[in-house]
Amino acid sequence: MSFSRFNLHPTVLEGISAMGYEKPTPIQEAAIPVILEGCDLLACAQTGTGKTAAFMLPILSILANQEHDSTTVDTLVVVPTRELALQIDQQVEGFAYFAPVSSIAVYGGSEGSNWDRQRQALEHGAEIIVATPGRLLQHIQMGYVNLRGVKHLVLDEADRMLDMGFYDDIMAIVAQLPAKRQTLMFSATMPQNIRKLAKSILIDPVEINLAVSKPAENILQAVYHVHASHKLSLLAELLGKKDVVQSAIVFASTKAEVKSIEGKLRNEGVSVAAMHSDLEQKQRETVMRDFRNRKFQVLVATDIVARGIDIEDIDLVVNYDVPADPEDYVHRIGRTARAQSDGVAITFVSPDQQKRLKSIENFLGSKIFVIPFEPND
Ligand code: AMP
Repeated sequence: MSFSRFNLHPTVLEGISAMGYEKPTPIQEAAIPVILEGCDLLACAQTGTGKTAAFMLPILSILANQEHDSTTVDTLVVVPTRELALQIDQQVEGFAYFAPVSSIAVYGGSEGSNWDRQRQALEHGAEIIVATPGRLLQHIQMGYVNLRGVKHLVLDEADRMLDMGFYDDIMAIVAQLPAKRQTLMFSATMPQNIRKLAKSILIDPVEINLAVSKPAENILQAVYHVHASHKLSLLAELLGKKDVVQSAIVFASTKAEVKSIEGKLRNEGVSVAAMHSDLEQKQRETVMRDFRNRKFQVLVATDIVARGIDIEDIDLVVNYDVPADPEDYVHRIGRTARAQSDGVAITFVSPDQQKRLKSIENFLGSKIFVIPFEPND
């Protein structure tokens, strides 16, 4: 579909065309009509999906369709960082090139003249303000900020703002706004604290969930809480169930660890090969071909094979350690249960890796099942 199918103001359509956007992204397709209708919105979408335009285009269109009271702030966008504030402010300038709408970024650490410019906008009105919570609150505490005319509040990267400890600041800012307003909340993840925040500031929101990186539902995920010194024997035990596990991938974070695990498994009599960045392209291809053809049972690898490689019928993925980035976790476990088959993904979590596990669980929005571990020795 094209942007012209939305009921956007002609000047906004001109702006979109000048930006070179040809067709809306999925989040834009889903969110623009909802926002134009005036509904509150809770959207799960990651950076890079086009979410800025998803909320800015309909807001600019609503603004262009109405008389703006030049003494108030119409739209307040609250974001976690100054980089994001600047980036959104610049995008607004592009979209609104043909519309009589302007925006100003309010963030900390800048020159005194900017403080005055920010104060001017917050006191006497501006169409769009894009602010970080801390700096906006500093202005509010000075007593001159007038947010009583705000019609649209956007919280962008809400999960990141809560991770950065901005919950109280957000609530203090929301307390300055009229109860009758449209509120839009965007978050890359939907953990419990985001749902709680949404409940307290959104009214009957439409929910859109476009999180791209969610593992397939037919992967059984589990963790063992296990000390590093017990990981190898546990791994050998799991792989020893040969009638169940015919083909497995073990992921480790460093190539040194990959080599060490490969050597130790071989000593245990496991049929194994390793894949890491020290191998030449030709060697990698041979390893992958042999693995596909079931010439050995276990592939031990760094993340280089996690992304993109399509091998069917892997019964088990083991994370020998917890990946630092939740997205890597999703890519790693996505190697099992491809197409219609079921798969199992097991993660070994040592005591120093609890935090990483927590951030993966936040990313997934659910807890991973724990299998109790009893060391044999
Ligand atoms: P965002 O997720 O808002 O950070 O946007 C990611 C990038 O996608 C930005 O550089 C946007 O300019 C670009 N973008 C957003 N919407 C579209 C679209 N419909 N077509 C092409 N590029 C887009």
